[in-house]
Amino acid sequence: MDVAEKLEVLAGAAKYDASCASSGVRRSGAGGLGSSARAGVCHSFTPDGRCVSLLKILYTNHCIFDCHYCVNRRSSPIPRARFTADEVARLTIDFYKRNYVEGLFLSSGILRSPDYTMEQLTQVARQLRTQHAFRGYIHLKAIPHCSGELLAEAGRWADRLSVNIELPTRADLELLAPDKDGRQIEGSMQEVCARIQTSRAERRESARAAVFAPAGQSTQMIIGATPSTDADILHTADRLYRSYRLRRVYYSAFSPVPHADQQLPVEAPPLVREHRLYQADWLLRYYDFAVDEIVGDDLPQLDLELDPKHAWALRNRDRFPIDVNRADRELLLRVPGLGVRNVQRILMLRRQHAVRLSDLRRLRVVMKRAQPFLITADHNPALAQLDRGGLAARTRPGERQLLLFETARSATSGEF
Ligand code: SF4
Repeated sequence: MDVAEKLEVLAGAAKYDASCASSGVRRSGAGGLGSSARAGVCHSFTPDGRCVSLLKILYTNHCIFDCHYCVNRRSSPIPRARFTADEVARLTIDFYKRNYVEGLFLSSGILRSPDYTMEQLTQVARQLRTQHAFRGYIHLKAIPHCSGELLAEAGRWADRLSVNIELPTRADLELLAPDKDGRQIEGSMQEVCARIQTSRAERRESARAAVFAPAGQSTQMIIGATPSTDADILHTADRLYRSYRLRRVYYSAFSPVPHADQQLPVEAPPLVREHRLYQADWLLRYYDFAVDEIVGDDLPQLDLELDPKHAWALRNRDRFPIDVNRADRELLLRVPGLGVRNVQRILMLRRQHAVRLSDLRRLRVVMKRAQPFLITADHNPALAQLDRGGLAARTRPGERQLLLFETARSATSGEF
């Protein structure tokens, strides 16, 4: 099989991994090829919502594991291929020079053992940095249960490492990924987290200290492969953020695979569910919401029709309306239609004069959603809607927002 044929097989096999967005980092030292300094290397999205400006491939789709939801599982009757480290490094450089990509996202099936596989991935990153002086973005998949020394080496060359949690609960993992162990997965996350913290502390002391995965770590969770609820998913995500200081949890809607196990659903979950989870995730990280405010025992699933902040506001109407000229930042962030940037601008603006409806329009606040919840300096006729039925229907976003392309963009911007 030549490199082009391998590329066809191994780029196709990597498309199920959603955790490929990147963050900008600075690499010290002059010279070399490429740059990872600009924030967010991959800002392009295909119509199906995946970013494409990283060369996103598997090192191999051979795998000794048999995760039922995965097209590359041991028992899957698919064509197999395997690159060499040299081939991946050359492809990356060739694509970079042709301006096709700005970095590399490299994952892999498990060959022989976690240690052996991690060594192959690390070799690619080492080769790119040392032989090709490549300074672009590298995201390596960290193979759970590989040795700490290999993780240390991988983090030395890669900008980001990610250990996939795969499924929302340990029970899901036992059911669908019998070769995987949730404790080992989180053990590797813990190891990466500890090394990142140590590296940051050492670099505060000395700029010469070694860098370890400067763009942090992320993970991916497949949703809709098991009956786990959005509450299960968000509780797991919240725990991972707190325990291992993850930069991102990526939610990837389950894609039905050929010759699938009968335990798996025959259809993918609606993509809007993935979108709502990203919005809820944003609320946890940037809007000071707690998981229990978004989902709970009596509310296990997110509303597919409304964004989770809007749904929360409608359940808590007694807390509204709030005065846009007096409310603190935390309260303003809870108003549907006000994003983090809107709130910052409102706080600045009201130092100069009382905020009126026309100011909010100029700030491009989503008036249809925000207006019924806010008291402004002038008369706000929409306030009367707050106590009426049908507010959800009147303020619901149009169908266009639910299109997948919009989904990816708004999930990335986090403004809602
Ligand atoms: S370890 Fe599981 S999820 Fe990863 S490639 Fe192998 S079968 Fe697929």
